[in-house]
Amino acid sequence: MSRALIIGGGLAGGAAAARLASLGQPPLLLEREEGPHHKICGEFLSVEAGSTLAGLGFDVTRLGGARIDTMRLHAGHRSAAAQLPFVATGLTRHSLDDALLDHATRLGADVQRGTSVRHIANGRAITSQGEAPAGPLLLATGKHDLRGQPRNAAGTINDLIGFKQFFRAPAALRTALAGAVEITLFKGGYAGLQSVENGRLNLCLLISRARFRELGGSWETLLATLLREPGLAPLAEAEALLPRPISIGAVPYGFLARPSADAGLYRLGDQAAVIPSFCGDGMAMALHSGRLAANMLAAGAAPAAYQARLRRDVARQVRLATTLQRLSETRLGRFALIAGLTAVPAALTTLARWTRVNDAALARVQA
Ligand SMILES: Cc1cc2nc3c(=O)[nH]c(=O)nc-3n(C[C@H](O)[C@H](O)[C@H](O)COP(=O)(O)OP(=O)(O)OC[C@H]3O[C@@H](n4cnc5c(N)ncnc54)[C@H](O)[C@@H]3O)c2cc1C
Repeated sequence: MSRALIIGGGLAGGAAAARLASLGQPPLLLEREEGPHHKICGEFLSVEAGSTLAGLGFDVTRLGGARIDTMRLHAGHRSAAAQLPFVATGLTRHSLDDALLDHATRLGADVQRGTSVRHIANGRAITSQGEAPAGPLLLATGKHDLRGQPRNAAGTINDLIGFKQFFRAPAALRTALAGAVEITLFKGGYAGLQSVENGRLNLCLLISRARFRELGGSWETLLATLLREPGLAPLAEAEALLPRPISIGAVPYGFLARPSADAGLYRLGDQAAVIPSFCGDGMAMALHSGRLAANMLAAGAAPAAYQARLRRDVARQVRLATTLQRLSETRLGRFALIAGLTAVPAALTTLARWTRVNDAALARVQA
């Protein structure tokens, strides 16, 4: 069989490349960026993601992420806190994605950075350098749809704009935030604040287009409003590190690829399933899909069989998280969530478990 072509070198593409290489079928991977780059992401790396990375022989601890074991949820002046049922890591995508591609290269994958795939014609990828050799196609372009291969956004939540900015905070604030991911629900959206490596803080948020416009339509006016939220007010003492925030629009939250939709194409990561960001398990799903696709491709399974298996592994989690996101969109829903979680703290643990890739699915791909 000709070697597989992986389009996109994020976590899904990187995991598939590493796994195929270690199964003795080194693929070609094309990534459009020339080197490490920032991505919009809360950078909350869950225990499931860590476990799939470890199964690929990748030691995430050497990248020096921040330990996170507590979640605090804020809505106005109300807050709820709970111990997470696992220890997560705050780690930048700038470090992680690049290190995973290096790992795949060391295992034998042919990783070509700085090559963009423009479209797919008759099962062949047309790139910025010409036509790529024929072979099974794994589509791992993440948040970005390839021309001619759109995801069907019907029924998804896709009217949100995402922003991310890093901050350097005074020592007292860093200490106050150490070990926690702080989720603030606000009118029109929610924000996550947590530590990442080298003592920085990552603020990542989603807001509806309509509310963003209402607030003046600029990052400056949005940030000024958010700093009035009790959960985010301490950030006023911190210094923004990127010249301007990274942003994204129209992420189709709740999207699940259908097995028969793209015969001949293995869809990975966000191209296969998009779980609302507050769950902090999108990276785990991307890694899981990459490893699963590699296992099934190497065993001769057709794309539709892989897509059906992945859907069984993640559909329930994506649907539940999408319902919770819709609930948080109303004022009543936000306060019901906080009140419910304050009254029954164990519910947070249960919800966290139900919105993640489960142990049985993880164990199956590691076998
Ligand atoms: C606001 C926000 C916050 C989030 N927070 C979290 C979180 O805290 N924890 C968590 O687990 N998940 C989080 N997620 C989800 C997580 O970021 C995604 O699920 C994950 O990045 C998906 O990985 P991927 O490999 O599918 O795609 P990506 O990480 O998007 O990677 C795709 C890669 O493909 C490349 N590419 C794109 N087009 C082409 C092309 N035409 N040719 C070649 N290369 C191409 C891109 O450059 C990129 O490197 C968040 C998502 C959003 C939007």
